[in-house]
Order: sequence, then C-alpha cells, then structure tokens
Amino acid sequence: MKLTFLGGVDEVGSLGIVLDMDGTKVLLDYGFSPHDPPKYPIQPPDLDAFVLSHGHLDHSGMSSWIAGRRPCPIYATPPTQRVAELLARDSLKIARQEGWKDPFIEEDIEGLEDAWQDVRFERPFEVDGLDVLPVSAGHIPGSTMFSIQGESTVLFTGDLNTNATRLMKPAKPVPCDTLIVESTYSGKEHAPRAETEAEFIDAIDAVVERGGVAVVPAFAVGRTQEVLMVLKRGGFETWLDGMGRTVTEIYLERPEFVRDFPALERALEDVEVVRSPKGRELALKGDVIVTTSGMVEGGPVFQYLNKLEKDRRNAVFLTGYQVPGTGGRAILDTKAYEADGVRHEVEAEVRKFDFSAHLGHSDILKFAKGCGPEQIALIHGENREPLAEDLRKDGFKVILGKRGETVELPG
Ligand SMILES: [Zn+2]
Repeated sequence: MKLTFLGGVDEVGSLGIVLDMDGTKVLLDYGFSPHDPPKYPIQPPDLDAFVLSHGHLDHSGMSSWIAGRRPCPIYATPPTQRVAELLARDSLKIARQEGWKDPFIEEDIEGLEDAWQDVRFERPFEVDGLDVLPVSAGHIPGSTMFSIQGESTVLFTGDLNTNATRLMKPAKPVPCDTLIVESTYSGKEHAPRAETEAEFIDAIDAVVERGGVAVVPAFAVGRTQEVLMVLKRGGFETWLDGMGRTVTEIYLERPEFVRDFPALERALEDVEVVRSPKGRELALKGDVIVTTSGMVEGGPVFQYLNKLEKDRRNAVFLTGYQVPGTGGRAILDTKAYEADGVRHEVEAEVRKFDFSAHLGHSDILKFAKGCGPEQIALIHGENREPLAEDLRKDGFKVILGKRGETVELPG
C-alpha cells in the first residue's frame, strides 16, 4: 500500500492524497488555498476513483479540475456536491477579478455532473475491488470519513469533529489499520463550546445595550449556520448577507445531514435575509449582521465595516481562525486593515470567538485510540509535532508525510 502526498500535509490548504491499494488508485480530497497567490496541490496520476470528504475549498476546490483532466467517479454526499459546485463557480469569478490564472474552466465544472456518485452514510460501495464505507465526520453537514478496505483498512477522516455543535452530531471512531487524520489543532485545545457560546451572546448583549451593531464575519459553509443557531438564544434582530445565504438553502434541502433540523429551521425563522441594497441599509439598524467573508477577504463584509468601523459602540466579532495576511487577521492583531489600497482604522470593539468545527489535541488522541490503528498519518496541520510526540508515546507509528513524497506502508 502506498500513500502519495500531493499537498496539504504540513499546512492547512490545498490537500490531496493518492491511496494506491491492491493496484487501485483512489484520490482523497483535492483542494486549493485561495490566498494571494493561490496554492494548488501537485497533479495526480490517472485515477480509479476520487472520494471527497466535504465542500470546504481546501478539500474540494480542485474537484472540477479532476472532472475535466482525470475523469473518474467522484464520491460525495449531495450537500458536498452542491457546495463544491458553488465554490468552484465563485473561485473562477474571484480568479478573474484578482487577475489570477483560471485554475480550471467552466466546462470542467459542468463535467462534475457526470462524475458525481451519491454517498449515503453507513451505505458501503465498491471501487475496483476495494470496499468503501462512508461515515459522518461531524465537521459540517455532509462531511464524510471514508473507511477503505482492501488488503488492509485505511480510514481517511477529512476534517473531523468529535464534539457536538449546534449543527452537527459528534463523529465516532472507526476501527482501521491505517488512520489518516487531520491535525489542525495539534498542540491546542478548545474551550468548552457552552462557555464560548455564552461569552459570544453576552458580548453581543453589551453591544446592543450601548446602542451598537455587531458585524460577525463568518465562513459561508457551516460556520454561518452554526453562528445563526447560537444567536437564536439571544433574541437579537439578526441579518444574514453573503454566500452563507446560498449555502443555508443547500442545507435546508437536506434535513438528514443536520443534527437537529427543526432547530435550524427555528433559528432561521428569526433571521432577516439581505436581498437588496435597501436590505443592507436596514441591516445597519439591526443588532447583528452575519456575513462573508469569514476572514474579511471579500464579500459584503467590507460594506458593513465601512459604515460601522469608526463608532466605538459597534463591534467586529470574528468567528474562526484568521490566516496570517488576511484582513481578519490584520483587524485582530492591529485593529486596522487595507481594502483597495486604502488603510482603515477600526475604532469598534474587536474580538475573536472560537467556533471551530475541528477537534482539539486531546480529542485527536482519544479518537486515534478508539480507531486502534497500527500507523497514523497526520495531515492538515501546521504544527504536527506535538501530536506526533503524544501518539508515539502511546505506541503508534506516526507518518509525517511531505508534499511530493510517496510512502510505502505495510498492510
Ligand atoms: Zn473543513
């Protein structure tokens, strides 16, 4: 059995791995990082199949390229398929706006239609003699772990959460011989979710009491819907803008992929959706505006910041990890950012809340023990060493692959 790492192993972004087992080549995710300049994974060989864990761009972003250039069946849940198509179209638009080379062409995106194979949790399927079992990964709606069984069993987690969130049930360990697991939070733990939620609601209460508005930049896929469900508790006048609107509609079509669908529906009943410039004006008079982009890199968030950033009564509450070099990171570190060559100072309150949909360091250890593998490949982590060290102490063989490297594994 061989694993070839095409990217996204010692970094969060542009993930791609080829699993070669019993002569069958299966691609595990194929994404890209949309920062300036974008970063792509290495090109794969001809493939027998592609299993796609979820729709986030760093995992799914290059699916269209595969459909056009390495045609093979692409296995994914329906919400993952819809989100991947949505982000692919948006990526082309952004590439043109930014003057980047197109990562793929429109026809490639259309090619996805023929490539998609619907996946249902716990319903096994076969790929050229390999038995594949899809299992919920607990990360965002439709996110999937794949257990792939041939001469031995490999579990690929994609992004993973073993803690319950408003949107998702926690993932459970799956027995395997080789575990390929994300390590985003190696060396870091999360505060209990209930604490984070309470702090978030209290912080918005304080903003509303002093007559301000809270701008909440949130990733369109998963985070926006989670944040809206949390906000339900506060009874605020909440407005939703940006791509999160479309993704929410995708999730509403697929109740079976959400932990508590009626709760999502109830949360959305209270949310006003911005559909016009007039809506944008009204949103400025509400309590909370949830909008893209989550890292303040584009989208309607700039229009809101323009109107609200100079007033100390207002607030910018970030809800996820902010990559260095992004507008969100600059706001967090320096209370200033640049847009279209103009520097903006932010007088409004700035805070970050950890609504991560990834498992923390000790959760990864617990999950690994639950799966009971011989060997563990750590991927999707900028700082894999602390986790590798703890796993080795527990007797696991740890593989820290590098971009471009092929490793031969027993089993
Ligand atoms: Zn993800």
